Amino acid sequence: MDLKIVRAKELKAKPKDNELVFGRIFTDHMFQMEYETGKGWHNAVIKPFENFSLSPACSVLHYSQTVFDGLKAYYTPRGVNLFRPWDNFRRLNVSSRRLSIPEFDEKFALESLVELIRIDKDWVPKSEGTSLYIRPTIIATDPYIGVKSGDSFLFYIILSPVGAYYASGLKPVDIYVEDEYVRAVVGGIGAAKTGGNYAASLLAGELAHKKGYDQVLWLDGVERKYVEEVGSMNIFFKIRGELVTAPLSGSILPGITRDSVIKLARETFGVNVREEKIAIDDVFRENETGGLEEVFGTGTAAVVSPIGAMFWKDKRIVVSDGKMGPLTSKLYDKLTGIQYGTQNDEFGWIMTI
Ligand SMILES: *Cc1c(COP(=O)(O)O)cnc(C)c1O
Repeated sequence: MDLKIVRAKELKAKPKDNELVFGRIFTDHMFQMEYETGKGWHNAVIKPFENFSLSPACSVLHYSQTVFDGLKAYYTPRGVNLFRPWDNFRRLNVSSRRLSIPEFDEKFALESLVELIRIDKDWVPKSEGTSLYIRPTIIATDPYIGVKSGDSFLFYIILSPVGAYYASGLKPVDIYVEDEYVRAVVGGIGAAKTGGNYAASLLAGELAHKKGYDQVLWLDGVERKYVEEVGSMNIFFKIRGELVTAPLSGSILPGITRDSVIKLARETFGVNVREEKIAIDDVFRENETGGLEEVFGTGTAAVVSPIGAMFWKDKRIVVSDGKMGPLTSKLYDKLTGIQYGTQNDEFGWIMTI
């Protein structure tokens, strides 16, 4: 497929690095391609960032036939680094299959992203901890309110310069363990990166915020017993020297940061990692007997985020004195070091543009 390029006539003023917030400002250009049954993906173009015109009957607006992914580009003196971008496009296709969305050519999508970043490269912020957030999305655009899988889709990529996730340093988060609402069940869409999972999580998140907690920890949808994940992060517990995280059972999102942390813990830091079901009452019990050493979440936005306290059924526990634990800290430094090009990339995760 050819990639057409239409450049913006006027470029927008860029924000200062210290004014960046998450996801409100977008760069000068976007990538887009269309799908029509019978025709496949076509009309690939990089063009000025602009609004869409869609029918109010459009199926994504009614039935949420949509998928997305999220990754970042990092400024380094030697070029712009992407972290495992091929895995994000792979996952976007896996999510698509679950949502009955036609798959796309991953190699072409990645090449188009590279071209888009080249065109908007002056938007990659340079200050420590900043990055360019990349959001590929696919939506069903059929102007039809009958329930069926769409015949027309739009794939697009937008870019947003983002600030350091932790403006005031790495502050451990306070977590509310949700025991009423659930996020996903095995057989559902919990393993797909899709808007519906987020819509399902908003109310619980809002209620937890009102009670003073930063994020919600989800338990399994059947017994509300086993730990699944936190907000938009996978979760790890360091218990008696080992790391434990929920297995990819079908109801949690297979995080690329999760996978990276497992590999780094095992191969770089020699820590045993178990991908096993872990019951929330065991976590609280381990805390009582001194076995619970560290808890952290992993995801592209926050990288590795320490969890300082957890609340479950009238009980609040504080983990590693409410501070960032030593293994959490080592994993954070190594992973961000690889992303910003200051640490050796033993696993071949970086693509430099
Ligand atoms: C994106 C996401 C994650 C983290 O995935 P990464 O690839 O590490 O960014 C975890 N949980 C949910 C629900 C997500 O949407």
